[in-house]
Amino acid sequence: MSSKITFQIFESESTFLDPRKKYEPRTEQFQVRIDPLTGRTGHFSHIGAVKAQKLDLESYTQPALKGFCPFCLENREKATPKFTKEIFPEGRRSKREAILIPNLFPYDVYSGIMIMTDEHVVPLPGFHEKRLSDAFSLGIEFLKRTRAVDPALPYHLMTWNYMPPSGGGLVHPHQQYFATKHPGNHFMDELRASEAYYATSGANFWQNLIEEEARTGERHIGQIGTSHWLSSFVSSSFHGDILCIFPDVFSIDDFAENHIDCLISGLHNVFRYYEWAGIYSFNAALFFGPKDQQSFSCHFRITPRTFLNTRDFAPDMNFFQVILAEPVCVKLPEDLCREVKTFF
Ligand SMILES: [Zn+2]
Repeated sequence: MSSKITFQIFESESTFLDPRKKYEPRTEQFQVRIDPLTGRTGHFSHIGAVKAQKLDLESYTQPALKGFCPFCLENREKATPKFTKEIFPEGRRSKREAILIPNLFPYDVYSGIMIMTDEHVVPLPGFHEKRLSDAFSLGIEFLKRTRAVDPALPYHLMTWNYMPPSGGGLVHPHQQYFATKHPGNHFMDELRASEAYYATSGANFWQNLIEEEARTGERHIGQIGTSHWLSSFVSSSFHGDILCIFPDVFSIDDFAENHIDCLISGLHNVFRYYEWAGIYSFNAALFFGPKDQQSFSCHFRITPRTFLNTRDFAPDMNFFQVILAEPVCVKLPEDLCREVKTFF
């Protein structure tokens, strides 16, 4: 069956009289792209104009900026909570440096925090494969445990804010893991659209997306084991999203050690690209759908974040994203793909 996926781009332009060129008419191009799954739009403009800002990571260790960190070793025992005995009888679970605790301020029924490292400030090269592997495998174990304890919660996700531009409240590396009935609007939009695609075409959107992107090659970064890495046709933030799809994984129960290995291997490449590109902060998430379905494949999305400047630390999200729910991107996914590919 041929794919029903379409990649729609609306090219447009705006003309003004340019004060930099004696008020000669100047025309700037922009694009609006339609997400092939959800139908939501995204703007592409100011291509190449917004640069990711360098962060002074050293400064985050200075007492005035650091403040009190409950995740630092000396505070952990007294400041962090423990799980109830039906989740983990030992209270907190650890694997080398990675330690899993419940959130003191839970967002959902099961709201776990993975403290990933002993160190308070860890630059991207510090996320070697063992650190990533320990954090992800312990987090996945937690989600599988919540599934066993409370099978009525159908959705599972990992989320990660890294460094202050991402909105993370603590610099100390940590991920958040959720089991929930309410995984957020983006998750539910994708889930419903994947179900609708499956109902009308009899095919899995994510599998078809991989095939379509591999055919044209424009946004297909690479394959690692069973994982497929793409630059996203529509992105959430300025510098473009990278997607990793596991077409054969549908719910948390399907996610095995080999999938974690593929994810970490690819993520390691993405981090090397970020170092090269001068990206210091990101948001990331890993989505797992409900059991007994074949329409919504597991996928991971990572999107760079930055301050617009380090003078007044303007964030890179404004009315576009917050009120209009419209992402704006300054990097074309085809350019992003070309750059990232050299790290795969
Ligand atoms: Zn800390």
